[in-house]
Amino acid sequence: MNTEDEIHLWQHCHHCNESPITGVRYECQDCPAGPDIDLCSTCFELYKQGKISHPQEKTHFSEDTLHKFLSRRGELAKPIDSWLDIPMPEGNDPQVENGFVVRPEFCFAGKSVFGGHGFVVNTSKGLIFLTALHVLDEVIKKSNIDASVENNQYTGKELPQVINTVNLYDVMEDKWMFYDIGLCGEMMVLPDARVGEIEPISYRDISAFTLKESINIRAGTLAMNCPDIGEPIWLVSKMSDRSRSREAVVVDKTAHSFVFRYESNEPLPKYCSGAPLLNKNGQVVAINVGGGFFKNQRFGHANHVGNIRQHLGLN
Ligand SMILES: [Zn+2]
Ligand SMILES: [Zn+2]
Repeated sequence: MNTEDEIHLWQHCHHCNESPITGVRYECQDCPAGPDIDLCSTCFELYKQGKISHPQEKTHFSEDTLHKFLSRRGELAKPIDSWLDIPMPEGNDPQVENGFVVRPEFCFAGKSVFGGHGFVVNTSKGLIFLTALHVLDEVIKKSNIDASVENNQYTGKELPQVINTVNLYDVMEDKWMFYDIGLCGEMMVLPDARVGEIEPISYRDISAFTLKESINIRAGTLAMNCPDIGEPIWLVSKMSDRSRSREAVVVDKTAHSFVFRYESNEPLPKYCSGAPLLNKNGQVVAINVGGGFFKNQRFGHANHVGNIRQHLGLN
């Protein structure tokens, strides 16, 4: 296989912004999972020569030593050409109130980090705060926990032991860091949740927290079923044009993956992993996990409601 034919649909180069990355991709093993960990082969050579900086954001790890990178092979573009052919259905954007989508702040061992997005759903087991597991990757790495798919010994109890508190902030407010909605309760033990699956497989990328009754949040509801290929869904967050959702169409669905194509290529908020995806009835159908470009179209993938219900033990 010629490496030039390979693409990495779900990763972009954080230096030159190549999206998708073609050829060999270099993935940092020291930085937390997120949009700033991958380099294309050209930029990786420049990094080794000290000509470009990594990590990009000073808020992340900032040791002077070089970070460790692993080279990754991509996949041939052919199987995903069909994702471009599904037509975009008609649909009306859902109404999104303040206090539904939040930014979580995880406090642990005297430190605190903001991790992506999240939201609350009202279930038969009470109110539950949901987000992706990989938004906790900085907590995981700094706590020397191995929650990767390779580790069969991980029980799901390790993270709840190190996380002291989780503050939630209303993402729809302009200065969201000043709009503290309240605290989560305990992190729930989800023995099958893991980070590090090969994208777009994302059925284990979930974390869940109980909620205090007094919290000032607007809870959503989980849909019973996952939408079919061709149905519309909406990613909910605060967009740069101040709208609150972005329409997409489901283009692929398996027990382990859920892929959709956005109607527009407008940028999404940078850290929108963990944000909810809604169906046309406004019910939650998935937790947003990743995104990328293919042939100038923006795609996303998510952990769908069938998997969410299984992890939480809901019928
Ligand atoms: Zn590059
Ligand atoms: Zn790094």
